[in-house]
Amino acid sequence: MSYPLERVRSDFPLLAGVMNGQPLTYLDSAASAQKPQKVIDRELDFYRHGYAAVHRGIHTLSAEATQQMEAVRAQVAAFINAAAAEEIVFVKGTTEGINLVANSFGRHLLAAGDNIIITEMEHHANIVPWQMLARERGIQLRVWRLQPDGTLDLAQLPGLIDASTRLLAITQVSNVLGTVNPLNEIVPVAKAAGVKVLVDGAQAVMHQRVDVQALDCDFYVFSGHKLYGPSGIGILYGKRSLLEQMPPWEGGGSMIQQVSLMQGTTFAAPPWRFEAGSPNTAGIMGLGAAMDYVNELGLDAIHNYEQALMHYAQEALKQVPTLKTYGPVERSGVLAFNLGEHHAYDVGSFLDQYGIAIRTGHHCAMPLMAYYAVPSMCRASLALYNTREEVDRLVAGLQRIYRLLG
Ligand code: PMP
Repeated sequence: MSYPLERVRSDFPLLAGVMNGQPLTYLDSAASAQKPQKVIDRELDFYRHGYAAVHRGIHTLSAEATQQMEAVRAQVAAFINAAAAEEIVFVKGTTEGINLVANSFGRHLLAAGDNIIITEMEHHANIVPWQMLARERGIQLRVWRLQPDGTLDLAQLPGLIDASTRLLAITQVSNVLGTVNPLNEIVPVAKAAGVKVLVDGAQAVMHQRVDVQALDCDFYVFSGHKLYGPSGIGILYGKRSLLEQMPPWEGGGSMIQQVSLMQGTTFAAPPWRFEAGSPNTAGIMGLGAAMDYVNELGLDAIHNYEQALMHYAQEALKQVPTLKTYGPVERSGVLAFNLGEHHAYDVGSFLDQYGIAIRTGHHCAMPLMAYYAVPSMCRASLALYNTREEVDRLVAGLQRIYRLLG
């Protein structure tokens, strides 16, 4: 079956819009993706017809909202092939998911003298929480360095691991380079040495099928808003045996078993132990609709379509004089580049005038910018709704900037 591109585009109302007098060319989905009507409708419908507090009341509306929320939890488990819905924790996003692991697993199950490995291509969300933990607890942070082509040298991993290594925190797909780290080769090396693995899936779940059991990772985190779902909702997957050992990191309602002013508090089982307070229920419903949307199209079909578009874009960008791209040929989702010596902000501002939205800056990956010795990069993202015509517009826009600025 051919990819239903026209229908897909018409599912996203914002894509029909105009920006600065030009048809909108939205190439910034890696920062945040647009939403299909189904997601928007699901959230509205929940507020209109199904809204109530969850896990609290015995009245029908509350019971139904709770049941719907827990149904999405089971849906997430199926989406990433977790063994059980209890392994799925609702969080605000990738950032909160990683902070949860750092504050619970990190602060309580790690000790001074232990070490954690991260890579040089991580987003700040997978660097800073570990730096904070390291400083507070006397834990050492080790960095798996990049190679110039934007990949990791697998041969270096065994040399980074020793008897005190407790965690490898690694992205599945780089948000700047598009590098797809071969987790099927990396995770077994860590696991064989007894090292737990946290995978940042923020740039992966929308581009490829994810199977956390096949990956055998201990934690997997992602954000709803990059998966065509609402902002403010994300997922932390944790192996049940591990979540059961982890104490809560935030206290409050919904996460307790028993609270006594005299005897203290006992906590609920995971995942509820990690979900203090009233959750983002409308966001959870929207995330359910987003997964339905992606499943209906099929992640394999999406992957194939996006890969073909990526190859087209890589070829097309070669027509732009002085353009330098960063990252490996085989990649997923994003294309980072610079035009000559021009600052990415200048290039991005011109493109914006032509109706083309890309990301510019350090991409929350300052160590990666330092590695390539540039202050910033431009990044075009390719999502399930992008077209060859949009790539052509990007190329024409960059050629125009080259003619203007040299
Ligand atoms: N990790 C990666 C690889 C990302 O691309 C992002 C978002 N740019 C994050 C983490 C943080 O995600 P969020 O802001 O949704 O928490």
